[in-house]
Amino acid sequence: MKKINIKKGDQVIVLSGKDVGKTGEVIAVLPKESKVIVEGVNVAFRHQKARKQGEESAIVKKPTPIYACKVMRVCPKCGKPTRPATKVMGDKRVRVCKKCGAEI
Ligand SMILES: [Zn+2]
Repeated sequence: MKKINIKKGDQVIVLSGKDVGKTGEVIAVLPKESKVIVEGVNVAFRHQKARKQGEESAIVKKPTPIYACKVMRVCPKCGKPTRPATKVMGDKRVRVCKKCGAEI
């Protein structure tokens, strides 16, 4: 199993599939399935029926999980897709953007 190097709250860009090119924030990581849920990506429309009287039935938009290998992190500094490099700064390790060197 490949380790997911994406965390909740990361900005990512979709690399393949119907949402290719879309960016969004990771709202959940599912390590067991090697999948992530990205806001506004792979959205499924669900018809929700009214359960109570007076309630209207609605179409609910819900992002569904996609494989983590189909997304790539986006650097918040330069806005470019990047695979973060690990840099040792003193006694701690930080993730940096390979493109602009910003700590991400
Ligand atoms: Zn950058």
